[in-house]
Amino acid sequence: MSSNAKGPNPVSRRGFLKTTVATGGAGVAIAAAGLHPKEAEAAEIKWDRSADVVVVGAGVSGLACACAARDAGASVIMIDENFDIGGRGMLSGGSIQLGGGHSLQKKYGTVDSADMIFADWTRHDHPSSRYSDRDIVRKFADENAATFEFLLAHGVQFTGREEGGGGASTNAGRTYQTVEWHIPSQVMAPHRGRNGSGLVRRLEESARKAGVEILLRHSMTSIIRESPRSGRVLGITARYMDKDINVQGKKGVFVGTGGHPGNVNLRRTFDPRLTEEYQQACAPYARQSGAAEVMSMAIGASLWATALQTSQSGAAITKTAHIGCQWGYGQLVIETDSPIFHLARATGLTVASWQDVIMVNQTGKRFWNELDGSYNFIAAAMAYNGDPDKLNGGGPIWAIFDSDAVAREKWNPKPPNVDPLYFASGATLKELAASINNPYQKRPMPGTVLQETVERYNSFVTSGVDTDFKKPKPMYKIEKPPFYAAWATPILHDSLTGLRVNTDQQVIDIFGQVIPGLYTGGESMGGLAQHGLGRDLVSGRIAGLHAGRSPSGTR
Ligand SMILES: Cc1cc2nc3c(=O)[nH]c(=O)nc-3n(C[C@H](O)[C@H](O)[C@H](O)COP(=O)(O)OP(=O)(O)OC[C@H]3O[C@@H](n4cnc5c(N)ncnc54)[C@H](O)[C@@H]3O)c2cc1C
Repeated sequence: MSSNAKGPNPVSRRGFLKTTVATGGAGVAIAAAGLHPKEAEAAEIKWDRSADVVVVGAGVSGLACACAARDAGASVIMIDENFDIGGRGMLSGGSIQLGGGHSLQKKYGTVDSADMIFADWTRHDHPSSRYSDRDIVRKFADENAATFEFLLAHGVQFTGREEGGGGASTNAGRTYQTVEWHIPSQVMAPHRGRNGSGLVRRLEESARKAGVEILLRHSMTSIIRESPRSGRVLGITARYMDKDINVQGKKGVFVGTGGHPGNVNLRRTFDPRLTEEYQQACAPYARQSGAAEVMSMAIGASLWATALQTSQSGAAITKTAHIGCQWGYGQLVIETDSPIFHLARATGLTVASWQDVIMVNQTGKRFWNELDGSYNFIAAAMAYNGDPDKLNGGGPIWAIFDSDAVAREKWNPKPPNVDPLYFASGATLKELAASINNPYQKRPMPGTVLQETVERYNSFVTSGVDTDFKKPKPMYKIEKPPFYAAWATPILHDSLTGLRVNTDQQVIDIFGQVIPGLYTGGESMGGLAQHGLGRDLVSGRIAGLHAGRSPSGTR
């Protein structure tokens, strides 16, 4: 095993020049063969750090990759742009979907096999399996049980078996939840079911114990390849405190930056409707920067399974559960005692019944039955809303309600429960519309339109029939001031599309060839449109083992 070299380490390899230039977040490699030796020497890469395997992204797939690469005997440096490890895994529920007949399944008497997993995740009748690459699914199925045992070997603890398979899975005994990390100050939302903290902290603990070095607040700005479209990936450039450092990966570089919902430009490659107003579920803690995809594409990588970003199913884009805050995803509430509350700014108002509100778009019009949480609701929210200046994406969605609704829901519509930028109130509906002051509300909501919308809805309550959107038995009029508008725009979660890989998690270029030395996994990969931790852990571990076992500096 080689050790991590510290400090500047000029590297001269073969007779030609390798260097990188960062260009607006993405980087390109420059090759200039045939230079005068002195010129070539001047432009040699100065490696600030070096290891066998460099892992970019200390989230779920990155931690699995780092542990596996160490298991294979490789030295590892991890970098992450965040102030702490874990990525979105830190705020996840920690419900891990892995099966194939592992030891806990045997303990609970669950019958499962790799073939059963393969059969589930190649179903043509389910949107989360029909777009996946069958070779990748086969490898995923074959590596499920081994990945679960790998977690146990690295100290991950489980609470027991959960009911439910998720996605295309037909096996109810394939979901296991990790135990929450035991030090509350190291959990971003302690005691609120964010048990994923136990997964990432245990892997971190194991990785550090094994000698993995983790460089936080280091943001990857480019991938260094021998030449722009050929040759080996040699390392990466990362920005740390306004300084660029080059980190060499002698056996390989793994990029697992969590997918692309946080990158508006890239996510619109997959779905043009995903314009700037849609927020991502975990943004106050970890952004899904798309860095792995963008920087790999800059050196020739291909995307894969681009048919649909969301597969029109699952949690990839969802209705909000908490309104009046910027990020109101599902079970995730960032309470005032959370170490990251100052980033979230508000807890949001949790909606118990969607009968208590109506939803309007930025022009003040209803667009769908508020009780529906299916993809039809999302599609209607994202549809053209009649504003000629906003042809893509539906613009902000607002929940409109009155003081009677506040009483029924037992809400306290004040900070820190609501964020003034994502919440408004008014003595009249016109005043309410005028008081919406939000960066994504590009033009004022017309007060007369909002008033007409509410009056029409109130008439549906009288008649008992919603002739516009068929909301079953509209129950409550909106009539008692003050009136309120709370941010309720659908929120992004998974990336189900990403970089093209082979079954060893090596990144494939636009000509169908392996890019030697470059690996990816987790939500940065395409070809396996599956939600969550199971895919991330299996792919990270496969990549780590392959990179860690490969000879230094060879293809
Ligand atoms: C609220 C919530 C609940 C969830 N619950 C579950 C659950 O119960 N079960 C389940 O299966 N799945 C769950 N998930 C999904 C799961 O957490 C993700 O699938 C998983 O974290 C993705 O792993 P990843 O390695 O691809 O990315 P992440 O874990 O997000 O890690 C990516 C890392 O890359 C870093 N990064 C980004 N850009 C750069 C850059 N340029 N340079 C350096 N570092 C960078 C980020 O800071 C981050 O640490 C949940 C997700 C959320 C948001």
